[in-house]
Amino acid sequence: MRLPLAPQAKAQGITKRVAERELHKHDNITTPYGDLITVLELTDEDGQTFKVNSLNPFAFLSHVASVSVAAFGFLAQQLANKDCRLAFYCDGVTPGNVLRPDLGRHFEAIYWTFLELPSWFRSKVDVGWFPFCYIESKFVKRVPGGMAAVTKMVVEQFFPQDELRFNFQRTGVLIKHQGVSHLIRGSFGCWLADEKALKEIVSCKGSSGTKPCVSCLNVVNRTVPRAGDYLVHVSCPDQTLFAKQTVESLTHMAVDLQAKHGVIAPGEFKSLQQLYGLSYIPEAIIFDAHTRSVVRFPDTVFWDWMHCLVASGGVAQYQCNEFCLRLKADGISLKNVDEFANKVTVPPCWQKLTKTFFQDRTVEKHGHHMRGFASEMLTAIAILGIFIDAVVRPAGNHAQHVACFDDLRSIVFALRTDDEVHTMMPELRRRLESHHIAFQRLYPRCVKPKLHYFKHCLDCIEKFKCNLSCFAPERKHKSAKQTANFSYNKIGQAMLTREIHTLLELWQAPTSFVPCKLGKSLKMPEWMETLFHGAAQAPAEASTTISTTKGTVNANDLVWVGTSLCKMQLGVRVPVGGTDYFKVVVAPLKRLPTGEWSPEVDGPVVVDTDAMSGTLCHCVVNGKVFF
Ligand SMILES: [Zn+2]
Repeated sequence: MRLPLAPQAKAQGITKRVAERELHKHDNITTPYGDLITVLELTDEDGQTFKVNSLNPFAFLSHVASVSVAAFGFLAQQLANKDCRLAFYCDGVTPGNVLRPDLGRHFEAIYWTFLELPSWFRSKVDVGWFPFCYIESKFVKRVPGGMAAVTKMVVEQFFPQDELRFNFQRTGVLIKHQGVSHLIRGSFGCWLADEKALKEIVSCKGSSGTKPCVSCLNVVNRTVPRAGDYLVHVSCPDQTLFAKQTVESLTHMAVDLQAKHGVIAPGEFKSLQQLYGLSYIPEAIIFDAHTRSVVRFPDTVFWDWMHCLVASGGVAQYQCNEFCLRLKADGISLKNVDEFANKVTVPPCWQKLTKTFFQDRTVEKHGHHMRGFASEMLTAIAILGIFIDAVVRPAGNHAQHVACFDDLRSIVFALRTDDEVHTMMPELRRRLESHHIAFQRLYPRCVKPKLHYFKHCLDCIEKFKCNLSCFAPERKHKSAKQTANFSYNKIGQAMLTREIHTLLELWQAPTSFVPCKLGKSLKMPEWMETLFHGAAQAPAEASTTISTTKGTVNANDLVWVGTSLCKMQLGVRVPVGGTDYFKVVVAPLKRLPTGEWSPEVDGPVVVDTDAMSGTLCHCVVNGKVFF
């Protein structure tokens, strides 16, 4: 049961008592690994302690496996008898009025998952990332070391030094279901974060420092290295010139800083921090021998492509802004762009843009970035791309800007294919290099450290063999924020209780562990009856909506099937011998003699869901389909 929030509950006639009982039914669950909800104690600067509720990760896995055969089977298949890697993520979230100047009800959310889980599962909101705790920022601020101390505490909960406690690496978790058991073990895999969060977690100086990158030893900002120098400017496109920071080099610096603190003169100590690109926060992970050896920064830093590219001052936000200004200078007003944008068909699972998005969000000054959420930027990039193909390129204008934008589109397209991106790495690297060089030449005022960090995003995808980004865990904030909007005290506790309720309900539903699911079912069209009713088969079920490993696809959405551009028509579930097979009925678009695509379609064909790509935005101009 998905529990409605207070206002909807009232509308649905659910009494407060019933809702409370449902919401708190997991509160007292206890397992061989302790209580499901564990209370942690943090001490503030005045020595006062305050309590934070957390979801005990060992108890969570043990509990869901014991109560659900589907969860047990899934965990056993995906995680048992492997050297798993745990991924962590934290972010500050502001519920209610985001412009409120004080911390208000701002909170820090901490989630974790396994890199070994399939990417479609990790992308599913509410099941693939597990909450650990929510802490109100006003409490974090009172703890010496702030988020640096909180993140160290998180690591200590999963990998404690105390040999008598459970530890993911040493003891693992034994999951059991009706007499069968499996062991799940894992080491610290990575911390997924943007540069702002990394600054706190790793104790590094961040983008405004002389040394802005914790993954590189010789990359500097603000100073201009001379030719032949060991130092390299953060804007440098040539990755071969970067000297890699290693676990050993970072550990050496941390140990040295710690030893010299209070020993050398304060001015000298400040210079040393600047030289190392680190801030000395005694409570941080890298200044503690145990957590440092568990975490192994910087090897386990996972640079997030969402933040570097499409969110909060990311490379693409600058590029879209500059591109729109270039169009404007050429007599194409932002109103023209919006009018075109309104004709583009945006699939239901993409973020829609407002009717005046480009007029409202473009900053009409060079060197500024477009304002928008990451999901809006993905749509904006797709629409500007279609505009280029349909209008700008045929007119032969702005060839260099168009080429640079083509690189950006290709990079974003590849990153959006989840783990398929691994097959596109050589092409992606080539695009990245040509994009960087052109971007730097065309938009010198927009070259920020994120252009550098983005290179590390690709390194991380390759190194961890996993296309992780903040999109999935950030989507979780939506529900946590809604809860926060209706809670007035103990916000952290209220959010965790509700998130645990949702998580446990979903982890007990067998449908959570299959990638495909049909939307509302409809009467099977007659011509399809013959197609899907084999002799031994139960009747198939059809729907205009189907969830797949590539996301949700709706009827009339444009998708790739191999090298054919197709219109999705129906998703179909075919039960055969107790197993469900999912198929899609698609209508391929006709190809014009010029190689372009006509909006007319050929007769439908049936293909496996896996053969189908994710959805595309598209627009028909002069009898041709642009996408
Ligand atoms: Zn770097």
